[in-house]
Amino acid sequence: MQTVGVVGAGQMGSGIAQVAAQAGLTVVLVDRSEDDAVRGQQRIKKHLDRQVQKGRLDSSDAQAIAGRVRASGTLEALSGADYVVEAAPEAHELKRSVFVELDGITPAHAVLATNTSSISITALAAATKRPGKVIGMHFMNPVPAMKLVEIIRGLQTSDETYAVTRALAERLGKDTVLAKEAPGFIVNRILIPMLNEAIFVLENGLASEQDIDAAMKLGTNQPMGPLALADLIGLDTVLAICECLHKELGDDKYRPAPLLRRYVAAGWLGRKAERGFYTYG
Ligand code: NAD
Repeated sequence: MQTVGVVGAGQMGSGIAQVAAQAGLTVVLVDRSEDDAVRGQQRIKKHLDRQVQKGRLDSSDAQAIAGRVRASGTLEALSGADYVVEAAPEAHELKRSVFVELDGITPAHAVLATNTSSISITALAAATKRPGKVIGMHFMNPVPAMKLVEIIRGLQTSDETYAVTRALAERLGKDTVLAKEAPGFIVNRILIPMLNEAIFVLENGLASEQDIDAAMKLGTNQPMGPLALADLIGLDTVLAICECLHKELGDDKYRPAPLLRRYVAAGWLGRKAERGFYTYG
């Protein structure tokens, strides 16, 4: 494997592109427009510069890593990719159309992986003529720092695709777990209801943002409180996962908190919008 394509140059896509380039792979980072893709590329450079300032990386290595990432505004740039990780927004129809296009553009041997947090791998695979080569490769945020990759096999994912994906995750320095296909897989099936419940606690006026987060940090030894973590993930993404759990599992315990919907409607999406449960500057 030489060339990895990443679709979506947001917080996850740029992180995935960075760790792939750090592992010596050539990366093509694609977003809706060239400008969006270049913004993702700049985010990688900024992150690498910080590593250099902290003395964790040589500046020549940082330059070489950044030099392995090419930005593009079109999926056609993935015509030579050996492996593609899709990290576009958490919306079923959007991801489905990306997979249809990728299937027509990428070489027949290429694996098409999705970083989806909750959407069915089998449904995305069904949009292609290579369902055996479609798989879930779910990175955690922030990608360069977090060790885990959850791997999710769709109904038709082949043993070879799983083996290639696991080997790639290991090459990127990650530990893997294998999850059966079900909404939210392992991590988000457990995590998202907890974040949603924290938002209900806030909405019901039981405690302030600061006290909810302090309670869970100090009381359950979590490194971050649930509201700060929801801001980090992105409230639009949290809502999309919540809606997927609710719809697919049909249990009202997964219903999204109305306050979460209002924040998303207001564009208060968390850190990426500089405003969520907290403000960021
Ligand atoms: P984000 O909003 O930061 O980035 C999404 C990017 O996709 C944006 O740059 C957007 O311009 C781009 N995009 C939109 N439409 C596109 C298209 N048609 N083609 C190519 N690019 C397009 O979102 P994110 O947090 O990086 O999440 C991306 C995916 O990763 C989602 O499926 C999400 O569920 C998943 N994920 C997120 C987290 C998290 O903590 N945020 C963790 C694991 C997985």
